[in-house]
Amino acid sequence: MNIAVIGTGYVGLVTGTCLAEIGHHVTCMDIDPEKIKTLQSGRSTIYEPGLEELLQNNIENNRLDFTTDYATGLANKGIVYIAVGTPENEDGSANLTFVEAVSKDIAKYAQNDLIVVTKSTVPVGTNHQIQNWIKENLQQDVNIKVASNPEFLREGSAVYDTFNGDRIVIGTDDENTANTLEEINRPFGVPVYRTDVNSAEMIKYASNAFLATKISFINEIANICEKTGANVADVAKGMGMDDRIGSKFLNAGIGFGGSCFPKDTQSLIHIAKEVDYDFEILKGVVEVNHQQKVKLVDQLIERFGSSLEQMKIAVLGLAFKPNTDDMREAASIDVINKLSSYNVNITAYDPIAIDQAKKVIKENVNYTTDIEEALTNADVALIITEWDQVKQLEFNTFKKLMKTPIIFDGRNCYDPKEAEKASVEYHSIGRPSVT
Ligand code: NAD
Repeated sequence: MNIAVIGTGYVGLVTGTCLAEIGHHVTCMDIDPEKIKTLQSGRSTIYEPGLEELLQNNIENNRLDFTTDYATGLANKGIVYIAVGTPENEDGSANLTFVEAVSKDIAKYAQNDLIVVTKSTVPVGTNHQIQNWIKENLQQDVNIKVASNPEFLREGSAVYDTFNGDRIVIGTDDENTANTLEEINRPFGVPVYRTDVNSAEMIKYASNAFLATKISFINEIANICEKTGANVADVAKGMGMDDRIGSKFLNAGIGFGGSCFPKDTQSLIHIAKEVDYDFEILKGVVEVNHQQKVKLVDQLIERFGSSLEQMKIAVLGLAFKPNTDDMREAASIDVINKLSSYNVNITAYDPIAIDQAKKVIKENVNYTTDIEEALTNADVALIITEWDQVKQLEFNTFKKLMKTPIIFDGRNCYDPKEAEKASVEYHSIGRPSVT
């Protein structure tokens, strides 16, 4: 199949590269000329395990190319994926400006019949709107079908997820379109679930909102565990043994961030509001997450009072989760912002997200990719992202390098019993502190 993918961010680049890997001819398009230039040279513009290798192989095998030019990109293609961003508007709704612009450009440059596949996360009804935008702007007498195909990949394991996903959702009322899309995806070996367009759009939001709910739920249980003397790790294990609950997404911590959960929960609250429905549970999920993100700073103040002046603080991890350089809605931003009002010295470690972090963190921070440098002479260490490099640290390293080995762990990376043995002061989420 000849396929175009519009938008080469996390979703578009991974989708395009993986579609090439299973044998399709793919042209990835973006409006950002720098991005396209970098990709043409075989370098990935995002950090994603395994991606650059696939990118280079498929460029070499002439199955993958890149362009900023719509006429070139759409020439001789039968399928066009839309994978541009749908960021959050100020009122929480999804911003569809990019989707609208792309739809109109597809209409302008379409020379033959096309199936337009929406990968971007869009509110219910948007695919019908896309169909209208295209219809109103078509220049040629061609047939355009629009289908919803929401994306479920996780940053940090996006390539793996594309080949090992739980399901591929195809939303369309046209059987031939569904057959074609199922055929395209067959080599991935992932189960396909067919439904109507509106339901496909809702599946994406409902899935993300449910996962976010699980996270905020276990975080509230953790907060109660701290006050009652229970241990949230044991509680989550006991809960997860029940098949109806499942063990995933029950790790207590400092909440969710990233490019999807925060904006998709807000967007679903807004979708509900538009139809006069007050989505109370989801509003609670968002509020709990907001407070949870800065919980380590609250713990720090509880421990030291508000006199943190001149304290040297090591912040371990900046990315919103491991194996990505994505800083969107990362807890580190809120933590550093809150800490900075206490006139402390912050040294932040991250193996790959520092360049992205500098774009969004405005406070005065020393950055390092050397974890030991971050810990040297620190008064306290705050663990924000559970990078392997962080999880592998031994308590002796904290003891050896820090002025005082006091750890506030937002991701429950270590065993409190080991901290006790090593005589390290250790505070985590929902588990008894070691003092
Ligand atoms: P992104 O911001 O990383 O990438 C979007 C890309 O689109 C950018 O490179 C931008 O330059 C390009 N673009 C914007 N307007 C364009 C235009 N008119 N023509 C061509 N290119 C254009 O976004 P992302 O994280 O890949 O997310 C894309 C969509 O997929 C969003 O709706 C998101 O909610 C959804 N999604 C994201 C993830 C994820 O983990 N990132 C997972 C599932 C779904």
